[in-house]
Formats: sequence, C-alpha cells, structure tokens
Amino acid sequence: MTKLPPHPKNAKGDFYVEDGCCTACDLPREEAPDLFRYEDMHCYVCRQPSTDADVVRILNAMEIQDLDCIQYKGNNPYIIQSLKQRNLESCISSNMQVLWAKLKSKLGVR
Ligand code: SF4
Repeated sequence: MTKLPPHPKNAKGDFYVEDGCCTACDLPREEAPDLFRYEDMHCYVCRQPSTDADVVRILNAMEIQDLDCIQYKGNNPYIIQSLKQRNLESCISSNMQVLWAKLKSKLGVR
C-alpha cells in the first residue's frame, strides 16, 4: 500500500498517523485517549508511548483503526514482532518510505 507523509501535528517519534488517510473513524482515542488527539476530522499521535502499557495500548489502537493510518517507523524488535503477530505488517514503515512519501507530497504526486 502506498505510504502517505506523517500528519504535521504528530508528536516526534516512531509512531505516527499518516496525513490525509482519515475516514474519521476516531477509534484510536477509544483505546488510547492520552496518545491520540482528534482535530479537524483527523487523528494524530499527540504523545509517544513511554511505558510498556502505553506500547500495548497503541498497538491495540493500530489493530482497531479504520485504515492503516497509524504507522511505526522504528526499529524496536519487540514492537515489530508484535505488529507482525497481529498481521499489521502494512503498518511498518522504513525511514526511506517516510522520506519518499514526504517528497511525493511536496511535489504533489500521489
Ligand atoms: S485511525 Fe485513521 S481513519 Fe481513524 S481517526 Fe485516525 S486517521 Fe482517521
């Protein structure tokens, strides 16, 4: 699936919501209301997970999200393994994919 650039309001870190991906499901806030904010019909990561419990909740949010808007671009083997076990491979991005998505967005290419 084509990757979209990160939403500009995401908190800096490895978890992010793609910009322009939204169907306004607002489901992540049900699972992790302190990690996601919903504004202008779009959610974004307002705080990166800082504990193991946070990580579990953001993974749960990724499992119930409407599309694959919430992405992980980090290298933590536990998180990557957990995403694979949940069949969420499509939510794993490389830094190169993120850079490419940003460049395409700047150039107006989809
Ligand atoms: S998970 Fe996706 S569809 Fe649901 S509110 Fe967030 S950006 Fe929108």
